[in-house]
Amino acid sequence: MMKNIAVIGAGLTGAAAAAKLVQQGYQVTVFDKGRVAGGRMSSKKTEHGYLDMGAQYFTARSDLFKQQVQLWLEAGCADIWACRTALLCNDEGVTSLVSSADAQLRFIGVPSMQSPVKSLLQAIPIVTECRIDRLSYQRQWTLYCANNQSYSNFDAVLITLPPVQAQQLLSQSQLPDLIATNSQLLEPCWAVAVQAEACSMGDAIFCQHPKLRFISHQQHKQGRTSCYILHFNASYSAEHLQARPEFWFEQAITIVRDELNIQHSIEPLVAHRWLYASQRDQAIAPGIMALPEQKLWIGGDWSFGGRVENAYLAGLNLAQALVETQHLAGELS
Ligand SMILES: Cc1cc2nc3c(=O)[nH]c(=O)nc-3n(C[C@H](O)[C@H](O)[C@H](O)COP(=O)(O)OP(=O)(O)OC[C@H]3O[C@@H](n4cnc5c(N)ncnc54)[C@H](O)[C@@H]3O)c2cc1C
Repeated sequence: MMKNIAVIGAGLTGAAAAAKLVQQGYQVTVFDKGRVAGGRMSSKKTEHGYLDMGAQYFTARSDLFKQQVQLWLEAGCADIWACRTALLCNDEGVTSLVSSADAQLRFIGVPSMQSPVKSLLQAIPIVTECRIDRLSYQRQWTLYCANNQSYSNFDAVLITLPPVQAQQLLSQSQLPDLIATNSQLLEPCWAVAVQAEACSMGDAIFCQHPKLRFISHQQHKQGRTSCYILHFNASYSAEHLQARPEFWFEQAITIVRDELNIQHSIEPLVAHRWLYASQRDQAIAPGIMALPEQKLWIGGDWSFGGRVENAYLAGLNLAQALVETQHLAGELS
């Protein structure tokens, strides 16, 4: 009987999988290298309120995710983002910023983006600041943490890391490379927060721009203050991957001043580099992966096309795959 499950990664994929398994009677322990759960749904707590350095919002298209979002709304850990959308175009140095209203419902975590993840994990043991750098299997799994701690007696393991990190973990554990050609699915992003008042055009600004992919202003997000977060696009982020925060602050301030026309003070706050941020355009989503005999499954947002909603669905799929294997084993025995 498979009972004791380790989930590596406390982003939304790991949280959704863990919550589902606990609902079904499994004992689950979640491990994450970070200080708090949330992963790329990350808000940094600062004296300027929470700064959403990762996902800015999420949408809900599938019934399963709509039901979960409804629960979060009722629990008060998510809210609708009443944002005004706009489009920033920069074609060979000529900038245009126009409003581009749409009917899409957008949601945020409140008071921070990790709140929905934390709510899924609230009754589940989680070991934080624990980077798992090796696994070993002898009828049960042992997890080895970078701080020399080890955790044993797991019947099954779910790995919910970005593909490069999952691949490294498999390789360090001398397990087959299930990720292989999918390792480059996620691209980098520099995210830069500056304090500034909002421009009149909008607070969710999609960008067709040589440097940027998205700009959001936080004024209509509960728990946040008057700040912009700029997400630089994958090619510009990759080109300047090693640049210092000062470089990114200068870039951000120049864009906010010259392209969004904010003439009052603009203060640099935080620059954060995501090595693995969002799915490469037009990449083929590989689904979840498994070593079923050893009871190991791997998946994440990237399994189904990136984004918050797909992370949730990946978590449900991982849990489902594990439960089905157990049913099958029960039927065969
Ligand atoms: C800048 C940015 C902007 C985005 N914007 C949006 C958006 O607007 N809308 C949207 O829907 N999506 C957006 N996304 C994508 C969205 O954030 C992700 O799809 C989703 O959060 C992924 O969840 P996950 O659980 O699959 O992975 P993650 O959130 O990456 O979770 C993986 C977890 O594993 C942990 N970890 C890694 N290695 C180890 C290890 N060896 N041992 C232990 N723990 C480890 C990490 O700390 C992390 O917590 C954005 C992402 C970024 C970075």
